[in-house]
Amino acid sequence: MGYARARSVVVDGVTGRLVTVEAEISPGLSTVFGSREQCDRVRAAILNSGYAWPDARITLPAEASGSMTDLAVAVALLTAAGHLPAERLDGVVLLGELGLDGRLRPVRGILPAVSAAATNTVIVPAGCADEAAAPGAVVVPAVRLSEVVERLANDSLARHTRPAERAVSLLDLADVPGNHHARFALEVGAAGGHHLFLVGHGPALMLAERLPGILPPLDDAAALEVETVYSVAGQYDGAPGRTPPMSAPHHTTTLAGITGNLHRPGALSLAHRGVLHLHEAPEFNRQILDALPGPMETGEVRLFRRERLVHYPARFQLVLSAVPCPCVRDCTCTAMVRRRYLERLARPLQHVELRARLERGSWAVGPGESSAVVVARVREARERAAVRLAGTPWRVNAEVPVRSLRRYLPAAAEVIALLDSPVNTGLITPVTFPQLVRVSWTLADLRGASHPAKEDAARALELWQGARDASR
Ligand SMILES: [Zn+2]
Repeated sequence: MGYARARSVVVDGVTGRLVTVEAEISPGLSTVFGSREQCDRVRAAILNSGYAWPDARITLPAEASGSMTDLAVAVALLTAAGHLPAERLDGVVLLGELGLDGRLRPVRGILPAVSAAATNTVIVPAGCADEAAAPGAVVVPAVRLSEVVERLANDSLARHTRPAERAVSLLDLADVPGNHHARFALEVGAAGGHHLFLVGHGPALMLAERLPGILPPLDDAAALEVETVYSVAGQYDGAPGRTPPMSAPHHTTTLAGITGNLHRPGALSLAHRGVLHLHEAPEFNRQILDALPGPMETGEVRLFRRERLVHYPARFQLVLSAVPCPCVRDCTCTAMVRRRYLERLARPLQHVELRARLERGSWAVGPGESSAVVVARVREARERAAVRLAGTPWRVNAEVPVRSLRRYLPAAAEVIALLDSPVNTGLITPVTFPQLVRVSWTLADLRGASHPAKEDAARALELWQGARDASR
């Protein structure tokens, strides 16, 4: 006769929730719980760790039957069987999958699980201790089930410290030959958080890869959000530091690989707080291209599958790049073919505020500015925007929704007059106007001006049109 409860966590999307596992030992009770696989794992782990298997009833919430709760189930059972005083489990959360041999195996999503455990001491598989070491968390790594029982019995829980952040060597913009227009569009995009379309035969990849290096470093909260997504995706690779992430899926990636599924986030979320680059964008599946506008507007991916709704964060800055037509060389395309090719991008492009034509570029003109010079301007511009947007949920001009534009990014009469001029009639639609106003503000921020002037509006229009004629 014995009873014990242990605590663990279940992770849904990128959010963890504490759950309680109960074990009650009594002769004749049949020990069936969770999934068949979990039952088999826990049983084998207990027997192979040298303990007897008791007759017991295990109670755990249905949604908690994943491998994350294996350790808690085993420890609850062993505690109920008298191997541990029950009070040793007070203030302790147990996470991890058990191998048949009693070893603890790393699990996906350990970081949000530890975050949900709050002030408790969290025992985790040693193999993912670095990933689990959320700021402020008390994390104790363990290799085997028997070690967990011994450590809890002897009260010898050694805390794991958070690893140092990885030094990331950033690519420098000075490496990109020529392409002054595209470089400027990249800088404006970085300063205001605007999405960008690069079209033409030129160094699209080089430019896109250098965008994270001219974005300001992530703050504590954003860095933790990014690490959490990578933890749930099973792609955590050492403390990534403060550089915004870059996600650049290949055009053969499936829709699920881009949006994610019930169990793991996709490429859109791996770009959260960073950059999503779709290279050779028209080659992507049409469904994928049409799936972009939702997250671009809301900053998250919502998946409804098998009567479950899962959210993943996906506030990214998009860089679409494309060559003007499908030919590899010796183009014979008609204007119609070229237009059709880029028309595949029509839906995401409705939300793209900056366009630039690429050129092959030449070293003869000498190297351009380095990223260090550009990022200094980007930071100053962002600081101006941050002051203006203080007290709102938005940090950059691109995030200000249309309904709040008049209040936070008002357009001066001369700006409206220019955008409203007869020359631009038909060009500027109700959808375009707010985009131009946002970019005008970013240009003013970059100049250090208090308000956008007519010249900023004119420049915003150029940047918006940028590569509009690529299909002609
Ligand atoms: Zn062609």
